[in-house]
Amino acid sequence: MVAIDRSRLAVLVEQEAQAYAAANPRSRELYDASGNLFGHVPMTWMNKWSGGFPLYLDHAHGARITDVDGHTYVDFALGDTGAMAGHSPDPTIKAVTSRTGDLGGLTTMLPTADAQWVGAELTARFTLPLWSFTLSATDANRWAIRLARLATGRSKILVFGYCYHGSVDETFAVTNPVHGGTYSRPGNVAPPVPVDLTTRAAVWNDLESVEAALRHGDVAAILTEPALTNIGIVLPEPGFMEGLRELATRYGALLMIDETHTFSAGWGGATTAWGLQPDIFVIGKSIGGGIPCGAYGLSEDVAARVTHHTDTGDADIIDVGGVGGTLAGNALSLAAMRATLGEVLTPQAFDAMIDLATAFTEGVEASIEEFDLPWSIAQLGARAEYRFAYPAPRTGEEAAAAADDDLDAYMHLAMCNRGILMTPFHNMALMCPATERADVDRHTEAFHEAVAALRG
Ligand code: PMP
Repeated sequence: MVAIDRSRLAVLVEQEAQAYAAANPRSRELYDASGNLFGHVPMTWMNKWSGGFPLYLDHAHGARITDVDGHTYVDFALGDTGAMAGHSPDPTIKAVTSRTGDLGGLTTMLPTADAQWVGAELTARFTLPLWSFTLSATDANRWAIRLARLATGRSKILVFGYCYHGSVDETFAVTNPVHGGTYSRPGNVAPPVPVDLTTRAAVWNDLESVEAALRHGDVAAILTEPALTNIGIVLPEPGFMEGLRELATRYGALLMIDETHTFSAGWGGATTAWGLQPDIFVIGKSIGGGIPCGAYGLSEDVAARVTHHTDTGDADIIDVGGVGGTLAGNALSLAAMRATLGEVLTPQAFDAMIDLATAFTEGVEASIEEFDLPWSIAQLGARAEYRFAYPAPRTGEEAAAAADDDLDAYMHLAMCNRGILMTPFHNMALMCPATERADVDRHTEAFHEAVAALRG
């Protein structure tokens, strides 16, 4: 396989950046005028955008985004999964509108019947029998971690190097793949305590490293996605997920599965598609169709162990014990979840989305092969992601080592200039129910054109 010509790449990045700047004067103007915002953007991660300034949204619908300069894009970023149901799907808008009208009520201190419907639906999809709601996947992880500690009486969480579960302190940990140990992940912003006090890190796809961490007897839960999806997609090797389940049971730890992204695997996520057996399940982002929400599910056993402590009065989950938020479980989020799950992210929608992701993957693979690129692509149901490494990375550490800022910038700008949005943090593409075959073909062509230019 021939390496990428870096001087050609530098020239191409410059060309694409100039074309991007020339095409987007209004976005540039808004960015330059937003000096009252920290980092010029509403949230600092929005600076993760090639070309020096982000595009500004005018409106979005289905699989399309229109920016303030009047360009309409095929959106494969889909809010990094928050818009997996497509932008503003009709049933969600209808449900939300009825909550915002005269007979509505957005947030009260009362439950609505929608919550029961959603709880039953989450059980049907993801198997866990008991559910609580949050406003984000981050909070679902945070609160579920507290419950895991309470249920087991243990202090530590096991995570994999280069995982991401939201801004949860315990999870910014890496290990040394040779010597073991737990260290703060590079870039971790001001951790409250040294991370090895709260966490044991292990290596993805390496059951020995997991067992070494569990042997200490202080791990409350293994927290993981069924595939790493925030450092490229690193799929589990055969037997790895089964091994995690077996080791968790053997060493008295809970298995906590975060399907915020891997929900793309199918109607019931990877949990149902692959027959996983989590003790705790976490999801967020997509299930409210874009309205902030999240949820965590508990097994009967975990729930009983928690209520043992709350019954005896040594922990408080009703008042200010550290689990819960005022707006969590609000009527608007629940109405949005009911409509999105019931009418948008249906089994039929998943079938079509997965077929499209397969076509996307095949299109990228064909160009990788034709131009003999040292790259790989991984598909997880309705999402696919290419990585600048061949063979595909097996661990978070290998995936992190394959990061390439220049290639990222080139591919993102080249796609953007050709009417296609990819997820800024990755080269990830997600399909939604409104994505069409023509959108995927457009990407296949644009990708081919971009890599052909790279090869010269
Ligand atoms: N879990 C996973 C697996 C995620 O990928 C993310 C966000 N990318 C989160 C949790 C956190 O989601 P949020 O930022 O919406 O809370």
